[in-house]
Amino acid sequence: MAITAVKGFNDILPDESGRWQYIEQTARRVFELNGFGEIRVPVMEKTELFCRSIGDATDIVEKEMYTFTDKGENSVTLRPEGTAGVMRAFIEHKLYAQDPIAKLYYLGPMFRYERPQKGRYRQFHQIGAEITGVNEPLADAQVLNMLTTFFREIGLTEPTLQINSLGCPECRPGYRAALRSFLEERMEHLCEDCKRRFVTNPLRTLDCKVPGCIEATSGAPSVLEHLCSACDDHFSSVRRYLDLSSTPYSINFRMVRGLDYYTRTTFEMVTGLLGSQSAVAAGGRYDGLISQLGGPSIPGIGFAMGLERVALLLGSQKFVSLPDLFIATMGGAERDVAFRLMDGLLKSGVRVELDYEGKSLKSQMRRADKLKARYSVVIGGNEVTSGRASFKRMADGIQTDSALTVADIRSLVGKSDL
Ligand code: ATP
Ligand code: MG
Repeated sequence: MAITAVKGFNDILPDESGRWQYIEQTARRVFELNGFGEIRVPVMEKTELFCRSIGDATDIVEKEMYTFTDKGENSVTLRPEGTAGVMRAFIEHKLYAQDPIAKLYYLGPMFRYERPQKGRYRQFHQIGAEITGVNEPLADAQVLNMLTTFFREIGLTEPTLQINSLGCPECRPGYRAALRSFLEERMEHLCEDCKRRFVTNPLRTLDCKVPGCIEATSGAPSVLEHLCSACDDHFSSVRRYLDLSSTPYSINFRMVRGLDYYTRTTFEMVTGLLGSQSAVAAGGRYDGLISQLGGPSIPGIGFAMGLERVALLLGSQKFVSLPDLFIATMGGAERDVAFRLMDGLLKSGVRVELDYEGKSLKSQMRRADKLKARYSVVIGGNEVTSGRASFKRMADGIQTDSALTVADIRSLVGKSDL
């Protein structure tokens, strides 16, 4: 029997990869315009890195990590997210030494052992961005505007921005206590996971997807009413900057995020089109993370978006690049001419397809149609002698006479601007 892929791990076939490239290129362009540079970090880290950053009492660390012992008896984990590794590298290479303000982005596969379904896989891909070294709400607003711009540039109006503040180590304990006393009276309505969360991480109950828990927590106190004055000011400023830049958003005080390192601003880009896989991108401020990982006390803020979910939102739109020209030949000496021409055109950026098998003219033209070539040309004896041929625009059948030179063909197929 043929071997299949591991469950939850997907192939991205040529038909789809154009869409992926479009997403990646748009993100790179928007992020680089904002001054972010790419960082590439390993897909595997020491397990301890994720326990210490994401937090032991989170779904990711408790249930979702691909952790194993390697042949040297070290516990290693396939990264479930990108921020921890990027910050580990930031500290390890002392990127802060010259300038604590770093703007970094990354892109690549992440791994979580979850139940595979539409928009949720065991290997998935994220593009994320991080700014370190800035406490100011201005950085929060720039990150949020950049994310909003990305979705606009890519042509999606659907995911909308929701923001919240989770406070800081000063004010969060007060909120946690208020939430606990609210939950205490509703314990019997909570699911088993939430009963456990009540003890370990009560904020996570607000994010539970079990209907009974959603109902039981519907009147829960808002974290926004428990912010200390510094956190409250910070959140007001973020909102003011978003208003200044006409960035649309709504406030969702139930958004708690599944990673412990967040402080103050948190946010999600949310869609109604992907069922319970509603978050397309998510992130927040993590002012304590770098020092928690053994680095200096430097704040940070960032986000990650899930490429599979962006690709699903783009729908079945095809982003395949089509051949500019299909060259049909009658075989023999004409094929040599066609081959040389193709070689010259490819080297100058014109995408050309040629008949590889010496088939009949009719079947060559069928192939030109199938490949959706924009132009086709038949090179026979006469064309070789005269050095000219008639190029057919496939969309409407209009024929144009042109010299068989790279320069003339390039301008004919509209590549003169290269
Ligand atoms: P969810 O609530 O859907 O489980 P999450 O809060 O676990 O999401 P994050 O850790 O914030 O997600 O990751 C950021 C983004 O990565 C998500 O908004 C989503 O687009 C994507 N993502 C997370 N887990 C998966 C997965 N298993 N498969 C595909 N995409 C994912
Ligand atoms: Mg999750």
